[in-house]
Amino acid sequence: MNIPIIKDLDLSLVKPGTEARFWIHVVSSGMAQPILLPVLVCRGKEDGPILGITAAVHGNELNGLSVIQRVFKDVNVDKLRGTLVGIPVVNVPGFLINQRKFNDDHDLNRLMPGRADGNASEVFAYRFIKRIVRHFEYLIDLHTASNGRVNSYYIRSDMNDPVTARMAMLQNADIIVNNEGHDGTLRNAAGELGIHAITVEAGDPNRFQRGMIKTAVTGAMNVMSDLNMIEDPIEEPVEPAVYCSTSYWLYTNAGGILEIAPQITDLVKKGQRIAIVRNIFGDIIREYHAPEDGIVIGRSVNPVNQTGGRIIHLGVGLK
Ligand SMILES: [Zn+2]
Repeated sequence: MNIPIIKDLDLSLVKPGTEARFWIHVVSSGMAQPILLPVLVCRGKEDGPILGITAAVHGNELNGLSVIQRVFKDVNVDKLRGTLVGIPVVNVPGFLINQRKFNDDHDLNRLMPGRADGNASEVFAYRFIKRIVRHFEYLIDLHTASNGRVNSYYIRSDMNDPVTARMAMLQNADIIVNNEGHDGTLRNAAGELGIHAITVEAGDPNRFQRGMIKTAVTGAMNVMSDLNMIEDPIEEPVEPAVYCSTSYWLYTNAGGILEIAPQITDLVKKGQRIAIVRNIFGDIIREYHAPEDGIVIGRSVNPVNQTGGRIIHLGVGLK
């Protein structure tokens, strides 16, 4: 199949009632070759909401790319209302070298919406937003934990906004963290353009995890059902998500071998011992306790801890 290369995701290129694939030329490499982003589009016969799903903004966070492939297999263009757009890999240069960051070593999800006259990652981010993202009305941005950490299945969303709050509830996640996100993320940059956007954190990097992928597919389909893009019923969660009004990481202030007691999604009580640090001879040199009641959203898995290493990502203000 000959896939057209285009510079801007003009959705009028796709006829109602058809599916299309494109390569979008965002920037060019040092050999003057285009760096191309893969895009899938499914446009229903009837006009309706435009939902974008993005994955691998961090190049080694792979569950989302499988989610997008499956959602596009599941959606029937003849029954779709509105338009579904999927970008299975955003950070193509990072993806090709199995790394989180862009190939100039900057984190794309800290510098959105980029700059037209910026450095390599900034101009990439700027054009990605301008040529692709601005065409969306709703956005689900799929991520995973970073190397050396594990995450629960959790959502970051502005829960004071009824539309993004609803999108978050439909993901059937373990945890929802309220986060307004003024932080250079794709979610925030999309929000500035009036796009209703949430971040889904589904599992661990560098792998496909069936359960996580299945839940994220359900979450995307639920959003489409809720927006009347498809007729399938909404699939309710087995257990409701734990809601956190905010969250933060706890860090060590001593180097050594780190042992963390609670697992992800465990509830912790204020004062509960959550971690110890041993010196290399095995003596306990530091203990860490939960500063307040909360839930473990994510945690380190690598015991080798330099001073300032991450312990747990604690969700607090639970409901
Ligand atoms: Zn990420």
